[in-house]
Amino acid sequence: MLVCFEKREALTLSNQDRPMTFNVCFQKNIDLDEPAFWFVFHKDNILTVLDGEATKPMQIRGNHIASVSPENALHVGVLNGVNCYAVSDDTGQSVNIPNTAWVPLRQSLGRFDEEMFLMYGRARQLLTWVENNRFCGRCGNPMSLKQDERCLVCSACGNISFPRISPAVIVAVEKDGKLLLARSQRFHSKMYSVLAGFVEPGESLEDCVRREIKEEVGIDVDDIRYFKSQPWPFPDSLMVGFTARYAGGEILVDSREIDDAGWFSPDAFPMLPGKISIARALIDHFAEKMTRGDRLSLPPL
Ligand SMILES: [Zn+2]
Repeated sequence: MLVCFEKREALTLSNQDRPMTFNVCFQKNIDLDEPAFWFVFHKDNILTVLDGEATKPMQIRGNHIASVSPENALHVGVLNGVNCYAVSDDTGQSVNIPNTAWVPLRQSLGRFDEEMFLMYGRARQLLTWVENNRFCGRCGNPMSLKQDERCLVCSACGNISFPRISPAVIVAVEKDGKLLLARSQRFHSKMYSVLAGFVEPGESLEDCVRREIKEEVGIDVDDIRYFKSQPWPFPDSLMVGFTARYAGGEILVDSREIDDAGWFSPDAFPMLPGKISIARALIDHFAEKMTRGDRLSLPPL
């Protein structure tokens, strides 16, 4: 029994000081005898190795995980030269490995560093894509992974499905040293954040910024500038961050999506989203700019 546990015990990264290097790549074949990093998901929870307060990816042979087969596992990339595979565990009970725990990916932004969150998020996103495309949307026959490319192909009609990514904009709107923050009906708390919305077909990112802000709070914006982007794997978003400047109108809340909205100065911010989220990065960027006195908005005439 002890030998069995030793064999099943998760290995950890051999050199703790070595930075994580994750390479995005693809291979179809899965070797279950190979020691590899396995990202095992139960819904949006990931099984990770506990290391004090921190968590680490789990290195183990795939054939020690009961829920794994070559058919349901997915190659997601290479971490520090070691292959990374992902698998869904529907029961959440197929692994019994000491010193591991399920960690909710959605609430893990403060627990994982950003690099690890992106890596796990990529795995979760790819699993969701494969699970949602088991059959061809055109003719209904089974889809399977192509040998040399990360896409699913229909064996009957040749229809091809690439991993779906749904772009959304997220925008920090500034007016006279204050930031537009809103409380969404989706939020379970009194948290306020910057506004966000999905890009429509045929719409540029900049047009989406103007439309979303107008629809949700009734104001116009200009001076739209790219900030940075962040993949958001619930289930397949790419958040594209922008800053913008108030250009006219009065706040009129669209009560379908937004409960409340207003202009807030950094010294009076309400409850905010957690660190590492792009929403918080936009808010912190604004607050730092105000601290420096570097105000882009012109005072009212
Ligand atoms: Zn088909």
